[in-house]
Amino acid sequence: MTFPYKSVLVLALTAFLAACAGPGTGSSSGRDYWGHRPGPKNFKTVIIDAGHGGKDSGAVSRWTRQKEKDLTLDTAKRIRRELGTDFKTILMRDDDQFIELDERVAQATRRGDAILVSVHYNSGPSHVRGPETYYWRVDSHGLAVRLHRAMNAVSPAESANRGLVRRRLRLTRNPQIPCVLVEGGYLSHSAESKLIQNAAYRQRLAEAIAGAIRAQSALGDAGTGPLPPPLYEPLSRPTDTAE
Ligand SMILES: [Zn+2]
Repeated sequence: MTFPYKSVLVLALTAFLAACAGPGTGSSSGRDYWGHRPGPKNFKTVIIDAGHGGKDSGAVSRWTRQKEKDLTLDTAKRIRRELGTDFKTILMRDDDQFIELDERVAQATRRGDAILVSVHYNSGPSHVRGPETYYWRVDSHGLAVRLHRAMNAVSPAESANRGLVRRRLRLTRNPQIPCVLVEGGYLSHSAESKLIQNAAYRQRLAEAIAGAIRAQSALGDAGTGPLPPPLYEPLSRPTDTAE
C-alpha cells in the first residue's frame, strides 16, 4: 500500500477551488446571497406568499370590485391544498394582515432550505392581459420558466414568453433562496378580471402553480433551457420601483 498522495492532492485542490469560487456556487439548496447556481431539486419546503394584505389591498378590479389581496390569499391557500403532504408548505400570511416586503424577505431567508413563490394579480393598461412571471436569481430561472409555462397553459391569453421577465424586485432579488413572483393575470382587463373572479379558474391556476413546483423538485432545471448570466446588482430598495 502506497501513501495516497494523489487523493490528498485532489482533495486539497478541490477545497482550494471551492474556496476561490466563493459564494454563488456549490449546493443548489440552502441560503445563497447571489443565487448564481443551478435551480433547486428535491426541496421539501415551499413558502407561498400571498401578495399584499391588511391596509394594502393591492390592485382593485373596477369590473368586479375584487381586491388583489383577497384573490392572492385565496390562490395561496389553493396552492397549499394542491401541494398536499408532498411538501412542508408555509403560507407567509393565512389571513388578511399587512406584512412589510422586507419582513417577507427576512422570513423567507430565515427558512433557508426552501423556495418562495409570491402570488399577485396585475394591473395596467386596459388592453393588456395574461400571466407574467418575474425572477432575478440564476437559481430561480428554471422554476420561473416552469411556473410561466404552466400558467400560460391555463390562461386563454397568448402572452407566451413575453411575460417571463428578469426583474430586480424585493421578492426576486433580496431573499437568499430561490424565489419567483407570479402575476396570475390582469384585474384591469375586463374579460380577464371576470375570469379571475371565477373560483374554478383560480383553482386551475393554483393546480398549474403547484404542478410547476412539483416538477422543479423532481427534475431540477432539466428542460427549462440555458441558465441566464449572473448579474451583480444591489439589493432592491423600497424606492426602486412600485411593486
Ligand atoms: Zn401585487
